[in-house]
Amino acid sequence: MKIEDLKIDGNEARFVVSGVDPAFVNALRRALVADVPKMAIDDVEFHLGTISDEDGKSFESTAPLFDEILAHRLSMIPIPTDLQVLTFRKDCSCKGEGCPNCTIMYSLNKKGPCTVYSGDLEPLGDDKLRVKDTLIPITKLTENEALLIYATAVLGRGRDHAKWQPTHAVGYTNYPVITIGKKCDASAACVKRCPRNVLVKKEGKIVVDKLEECTLCKTCVEVCESGAIKVDSVDDKFLFRFETDGSIDAKDALLYALKYLDESFSELRDSVGEMEE
Ligand SMILES: [Zn+2]
Repeated sequence: MKIEDLKIDGNEARFVVSGVDPAFVNALRRALVADVPKMAIDDVEFHLGTISDEDGKSFESTAPLFDEILAHRLSMIPIPTDLQVLTFRKDCSCKGEGCPNCTIMYSLNKKGPCTVYSGDLEPLGDDKLRVKDTLIPITKLTENEALLIYATAVLGRGRDHAKWQPTHAVGYTNYPVITIGKKCDASAACVKRCPRNVLVKKEGKIVVDKLEECTLCKTCVEVCESGAIKVDSVDDKFLFRFETDGSIDAKDALLYALKYLDESFSELRDSVGEMEE
């Protein structure tokens, strides 16, 4: 296996992997989607009754949305996750009681009229646990409405709920090969119609400019009247792309997925070894 053109920039990653079969890249895709863990809000406690501000003004602890919808929206907010430090509650030394190694607590205290955003979540503890995407709207509060919420985030995996899935748009395509034959009349219909601007006209000739943008849609082949363009793909070479929601860096997600696959296959190998003994 060979990895080339690895570009990892914060939340985005793209690279070319060759010398592998589709089953391997699909296993990596599935590990990135279902097995890389992240923190997400799993328990929300709503204050009931009236809420008073510093001046003694009373607010109804109510919002225009059902509590279940608010809890769901809170659960989908990306929570900063340090995979070096955090562990699953069931594996933690606190035996699932909740401690800084497995749990992050947030409070939210807003009084209307206002819009409540993800950035209004206040971490109980270290300020680096503050939500990075601060402008995700949760709800609006009108005059006399208020929300006082305590939310608990724990580590989970995407296979259990989408709120614990840190990666998005995880996918791969076979690596494209575009050949432009001698029959090309340089009418440039392909240049105009390519939805990803892969081809350009340079010095009276059609040339491939951004090969890795090609999605193998073959629009260029359809519009080429001279039949000069051929689009093929390499069977054992793939262009792999994914991004994260910001809860963890793309690099950490990729390293975790590779380690997870390695450990899973080691376990399988050991089990098979034991059967032979
Ligand atoms: Zn713990």
